[in-house]
Parts: sequence; structure tokens; C-alpha cells
Amino acid sequence: MATEDEAPASKESETTDPRTHRFECRSCGYVYDPNEGVKKLGIAVGTAFEDLDPIGFRCPVCRSRVGAFTDIGPRSKASGFEENLNFGLGVNRLTPGQKNVLIFGGLALGFAFFLSLYSLR
Ligand SMILES: [Zn+2]
Repeated sequence: MATEDEAPASKESETTDPRTHRFECRSCGYVYDPNEGVKKLGIAVGTAFEDLDPIGFRCPVCRSRVGAFTDIGPRSKASGFEENLNFGLGVNRLTPGQKNVLIFGGLALGFAFFLSLYSLR
């Protein structure tokens, strides 16, 4: 009888402090990083996202409200390695739909290129 299911305590994510988490603006992709703050808005380095004024804070890029931001976790914890891994294996991690876009996009681009060459003559 295995009882391993009862012990999820070894999960790394549980050791991260939510106050160090970065938040990404879903509207424009801007990332709020507590380690950097936002100089432009006078937000000091080390200010957790949850400490921001939910009414006064707006995305410095597209002025979305805090509700538009989503937790993308802390910066540390080998996430850089994971990102690099994603770059290396990018195509393999695409969904079939994304692959189709890539393939047909490539074909369309090649065709457009071919046409442009042809029209130059
Ligand atoms: Zn934004």
C-alpha cells in the first residue's frame, strides 16, 4: 500500500513567498517584479504586488488595473533554466494548433516571398 499521495509537502512551490512573485499584465505582457519596483510610478524596490494600491496602481505600459495582472511566480528557482529549455524545445512544446499556424504561416510566407520575386521581373 503506497501512502505517498498524502505527502505533497516536498513541492518546491510551497516554499516560495508569494510576496516575491512577479505579476504579468495580461493586456500587454508587462511584468511587475517586486525586486525592481516601478521607478516611473515611484514604487520602491521590494514592494510586493499585493502591497500596491489596488485603485491607484495602473500598468505603467497600458494602464490596466491590477485585476488584469496574473501571478506568474517568483523569478528565482531555476525558472531561467526552464525558460531556456522552452526555447530549445520550443517546437516540441507547441500544441497541434500552434504547429499548424507555424507550418501554414511558413508556407504563406514562402509563397508571398515567391510571389514578390516573381513580380520583380
Ligand atoms: Zn499592461
